[in-house]
Amino acid sequence: MKKQIAVLRGDGIGKEVTDAAIAVLETIGRRFDHEFEWKHGLIGGGAIDETGQPLPDETIQLCEQSDAILLGAVGGPKWDQNPSHLRPEKGLLQIRKHFELSVNLRPVKAYQSLLAVSPLKEDVAKDVDMVIVRELTGGLYFGEPSHHDDKNAVDTLLYSREEIERVVVHAFELAKQRRGKLNSVDKANVLESSKLWRKVVEDVAKRYPEVEYEHTIVDAAAMKLITYPSTFDVIVTENMFGDILSDEASVITGSLGMLPSASLRVDGFGLYEPVHGSAPDIAGQNIANPVGAILSAAMMLRSSFGLFEEADAIEAAVQKILEAGYCTSEFKNIGREVLSTTDMTEKIVNELEG
Ligand code: ATP
Ligand code: MG
Repeated sequence: MKKQIAVLRGDGIGKEVTDAAIAVLETIGRRFDHEFEWKHGLIGGGAIDETGQPLPDETIQLCEQSDAILLGAVGGPKWDQNPSHLRPEKGLLQIRKHFELSVNLRPVKAYQSLLAVSPLKEDVAKDVDMVIVRELTGGLYFGEPSHHDDKNAVDTLLYSREEIERVVVHAFELAKQRRGKLNSVDKANVLESSKLWRKVVEDVAKRYPEVEYEHTIVDAAAMKLITYPSTFDVIVTENMFGDILSDEASVITGSLGMLPSASLRVDGFGLYEPVHGSAPDIAGQNIANPVGAILSAAMMLRSSFGLFEEADAIEAAVQKILEAGYCTSEFKNIGREVLSTTDMTEKIVNELEG
């Protein structure tokens, strides 16, 4: 199989961890006989410096000609004082919008060997393995009218049945492939948009009798994520609730550096990036954890290219290396062997080469 991949390394450690993901995909290409062609483009702070825009037109074109997008991270102190249209994060918002990436997947999985860094008790965190499915292009963050003056402010929470249905269907499909459990999170006791959300979930559920689903009110979901996190398999929710709950869930593993994400269009095209930011405090030191970026590459193989065996191989290699006692610098206090970004990547690559 031959695929063209747009590579937007971005800023700070985004560059370092993206190189790690490319090295792993190259290895998969050799082992399973696939050809990946890399097309590098600018986004974020680096793009602002070179072109005056956080998402230059050439980058959009390059992504349009590709089969998927691999992204690092954007931002950094250099651009913090820029006016809002010249902020690195603007590039990310624009790319999500341009490509209609309406379904955001955030898996959270605890690794046995790293449980000591979880803020939760080890026996609470130990079996955590969930995916949060967040609606990404609708709801409160995009609704009009939206404005404020000194006395009043308004935001609009608007959802159409179609917007809800596409993300809910995706979540049911995912639950079917996993452990067959779905939690739909809403605030249907208060919000009108949540009442429609619930209706759509009920309608879609009829097509998935094999999936056991329940509705959970968002405040209760926030509590359960901390008290019984391992009871969740797939969670589906609207944009703002998903933003908050996915950050809450992400701390369970103890490091942002471990976590991948995917943002998908309905046809399967997608953008894959680690959950973490550009981490200016550790950039350029070859100490960033590349695992989140590497697992994002695995998600790309599975979700955009249907390469399940290849994706499983990457996840198994990561698991094996972590269980063998290796880690990166953010885990330095738990008595395991600390590797640099490139050494950790090499371990995973060697494991994949067998
Ligand atoms: P952004 O605004 O871009 O999301 P942020 O400040 O919210 O940035 P990060 O840039 O991800 O978040 O950094 C938060 C903290 O986590 C920093 O101390 C950073 O060093 C650490 N961190 C983030 N990613 C990694 C990683 N891959 N490996 C090790 N540490 C990381
Ligand atoms: Mg952040």
